[in-house]
Amino acid sequence: MPEAIATPKTKTSATAGHLPAAVFQELEIAKDETNLFHQTIEQVLIASQLVGLKHHQQIIVAQPLNEIMVHFPVLMDDGHHELFKGYRVQHNNALGPYKGGIRYHPQVNLDDIKALAVLMTMKCSLVRIPFGGAKGGVKCNPRDLSPDELMRVTRRFCSAISNQIGPDYDIPAPDVGTNAQIMAWFADTYAQTSPEHERHDTLRIVTGKPVGMGGSAGREKATGQGMVDVLKEMLPELGIDLARMTFSLIGFGNVGGWTARLFNELGATLVAVLDDTGAIHNDRGIDSGALRKHVGAAGGVAGFQEAEQISTDEFYSVAVDVFIPAALEQMIGPEKARLINAKVIAEAANAPTTPKGDAVLKQRGIEILPAILCNAGGVTVSYFEWVQNKSSVYWTLDEVDERLNTHMVLAARRVKVARVKYECDTRTATYCAALERIGKVYDLRGVFP
Ligand code: GLU
Repeated sequence: MPEAIATPKTKTSATAGHLPAAVFQELEIAKDETNLFHQTIEQVLIASQLVGLKHHQQIIVAQPLNEIMVHFPVLMDDGHHELFKGYRVQHNNALGPYKGGIRYHPQVNLDDIKALAVLMTMKCSLVRIPFGGAKGGVKCNPRDLSPDELMRVTRRFCSAISNQIGPDYDIPAPDVGTNAQIMAWFADTYAQTSPEHERHDTLRIVTGKPVGMGGSAGREKATGQGMVDVLKEMLPELGIDLARMTFSLIGFGNVGGWTARLFNELGATLVAVLDDTGAIHNDRGIDSGALRKHVGAAGGVAGFQEAEQISTDEFYSVAVDVFIPAALEQMIGPEKARLINAKVIAEAANAPTTPKGDAVLKQRGIEILPAILCNAGGVTVSYFEWVQNKSSVYWTLDEVDERLNTHMVLAARRVKVARVKYECDTRTATYCAALERIGKVYDLRGVFP
C-alpha cells in the first residue's frame, strides 16, 4: 500500500482535522457531516493520528473489512411472505473474533451499522477483551411483529448469514430491539443447521443467551453494572458523589432500566426520564422499581402517576448532576446540548451525541464520558459468557461482577492516563487508549504477505 500521506508528527495538526480529511479523500469518501459512519471514522482518525498509528493502519481502521447485506423472505402470520433486509458488518479482527450486537429497528441502514461496528472494535480494545468489532441488524419494527413472526425473522436471518459467522469467527449478541429470547432462537437455528458432530459447541455462536441456555449470570444487567463501575472511577475528580447524585435518563429499556435500578440502590436520585412515549419529572425522586412495573404494563414512561408529565425540551433542561442518554444514536444535537443542565453526560447508548452537540457541550464546560467506555460492560460480560461456554465452567454472579469491575476500572484509568499523555479531551483520550493497543498489535503482526 503506498505511503502517500505522512503520519502526522504534532498534536495540533492531528486535532486540526486536516489529515482525517486527507484519508477520506484517499478512500474516496465524500464526507457528509450528518453521516454517523463518517463522524465515527473522523473521530477514530483524529485519535489514530495522535497516537501515531502508521498510515496503512489508519486506512485499515477507517473501513470495515467485510460488509454483508442479505435479503430474505419470511412467512407472516396472515399467510403472505415479506422480504426483509439484514446486515452484518465485520469491521476489524486484529484482536480476536468479530463481536457485536444485532439490532431490530425500522431505521437500520448500512452506514449506521458500519459506524456501530467501528465502535465495537474500539470498545473491545479499550476494555482489553480478545475480540474485534462487528455489528448487525434487520430493518424491521419488532413491536409490529408477533412472537412467531419474530422467531421466523430471527431464524431466517441467522440462516442467511450463517456461512459468514462462527463461534470462533464472529459472535453476535443482543442490541436495540433484540433480547435473550431472540439469541436463544438464533443459537438453536445455528445448531440445527450445523453438522451433527459440531453441534455441541455451537452455543458460543451468540452471547446474551438466557441463563438456562448457556447465558452468563449478570449479562442482562452488565451494561448498567459497567456504568456504575466507570462512574465510581470517573465522578470523584468531577466533584460528584455517586451516592448523592441526581441523574436523568433517556430510554428505559434494558440499559436505562438497569442503570436506574443500580444507581438507585447506591443512593442516587433519578429525577427525570424521557422515552418515545413522553417525559416525566419528579425532583423528590422516581422509584425505578415502580417505573419498571409501569413501563412493563403501559409500554413507556408516559402516564406514570408518581411524576409530573413534562415536554421534551423541559426534560433536557432539568437540573441534574449526570445526564444519561441510554436510547438511540444522535439524540443530542446542538439545540438539545444548549438545553442540557448537567455537569456530566455519561453515554450509555452508542453515539448519542452528534459532533455539533459535542462541541456545544464542550464549550459549555460539560464533561462527556463516552459510550465506548461507559457501555462496554455489556460486551465484557458477553466475553465472560463465551469463555464459560468454551470451558463449560460457570461462574457465580459475584465472580462475574468482580471480573467486570476489574476490566471497567482499568479501562477508565487507561482513559485518564491517555488524557494526560495526549493532552486531549476525554472522548479523544478514550479512542487513543483503544487505538494504542490496535496499533501495537498491527506493528507485531505486520501486514500479510
Ligand atoms: N450490543 C452491545 C453493545 O453495543 C453488546 C454487544 C456484545 O455483547 O457483543 O455493546
